[in-house]
Amino acid sequence: MKTSVFAAFFLILTALLCSSSAAAAGICISPESVYQGRTFSVTITGENLSSAQAGFLGKEIPFYSAEGRLHTIIGVSASAPSGQHPVKITVADMSGNTEDHTAYIYVRPYKFQAEKLLFPPQKKGKLTAEKIYGDQQTLEEVLRTWTGERFWQSSFILPLKGKVTSPFGAYRLYNEKRLGDHRGVDIGGNPAGTPIKATNSGVVAFANPLPAYGSTVVIDHGQGVHSIYMHLSKTLVKAGQFIDKGTVLGRVGSTGISTGPHLHWGISIHDTRVDPISWINSAKRY
Ligand SMILES: [Zn+2]
Repeated sequence: MKTSVFAAFFLILTALLCSSSAAAAGICISPESVYQGRTFSVTITGENLSSAQAGFLGKEIPFYSAEGRLHTIIGVSASAPSGQHPVKITVADMSGNTEDHTAYIYVRPYKFQAEKLLFPPQKKGKLTAEKIYGDQQTLEEVLRTWTGERFWQSSFILPLKGKVTSPFGAYRLYNEKRLGDHRGVDIGGNPAGTPIKATNSGVVAFANPLPAYGSTVVIDHGQGVHSIYMHLSKTLVKAGQFIDKGTVLGRVGSTGISTGPHLHWGISIHDTRVDPISWINSAKRY
């Protein structure tokens, strides 16, 4: 299937562009290792590249074309097993030839905060469980819709200043058993009504009340990146609207299942939640 010219280009460009140990010809993974809950990027260089697809921990992730290269970013969930994982990449050139490569990423274990429960966790009411499940399904559909264009610029900003009352990846522990990971950060310490800003530019993909998550806004930043804002008292944007970084999209509230005014802020990379705080300084690298 593959042409030798195609393969040769991969080899030459690997040496030029990947000073660090490239896992496969023409494919650069950066960084070479990541903590659970973080993000890494994959760049493919070569001539006549058409498209590519990556398989990572059971998910299929598309590449996007930029400046003659193919590029994508991949999120590692808090619950992803640590250790070496393959990234299986299929690259197609303009003539329709395809090549399969396997690159590797090392996932480092991160010590997420544990909250030990002394008493058995209260069984969630059937109604609550149904509400959460329903909301998850609604959001998954939004977060699985990826736009080829990149709307975000440089770094991401905190949507709201305050105290992190529950960090990303925090889990409850009862009898050594892990009970669910927190898939965003909770920012508290602000009264209801405090303005919440868009962490970066993008198109509003969702702005609706949900039974468990309360009034929720999702922004599509393009190329698989979404930001999520929950429990708002008021939503100030509408689905389909393009908003710039820093635009006030809503106000702090306690809608849905919530014990007091706070913002749950999440970042999703191709439908995998990563630590949003890590995107404040690292976005430029992707
Ligand atoms: Zn939360």
